[in-house]
Amino acid sequence: MERKIFYCKQCGQTFSDNAGNQPECPNCRIGLIETEIYKPTWDNYTKEEKDEIRATLKEKYSVDKSASALKEQLLQGSPSNDLLSGMARDIKQIAHDIHFMYIVLAVYVVLTVLGILIIMGQLSRY
Ligand SMILES: [Zn+2]
Repeated sequence: MERKIFYCKQCGQTFSDNAGNQPECPNCRIGLIETEIYKPTWDNYTKEEKDEIRATLKEKYSVDKSASALKEQLLQGSPSNDLLSGMARDIKQIAHDIHFMYIVLAVYVVLTVLGILIIMGQLSRY
């Protein structure tokens, strides 16, 4: 059985367990999130690289952080190509999130322009 790295989104700690398991955090008693990182790969990372990955995971699983900031962090601060390939699936998800944000932004812009047009129409009437 291959061991993978699991992440606790509450306390931000990482743990290892068999892939496919659903372990819970020994600190928080909530379910851990299975990452795409294998234990042997993880063990090869330096402490700084592990901290960086935890920061990336924190961004990924935090709802109030923007997806574009995460993408920037992944592109600029990835410790190795190995990590990049491991997170290829995550990047696809991020691209999807960014696409969604563009749609929201487009709707917002259209509504703003419509609002301005309505206000201008009312002003010119008086
Ligand atoms: Zn925890």
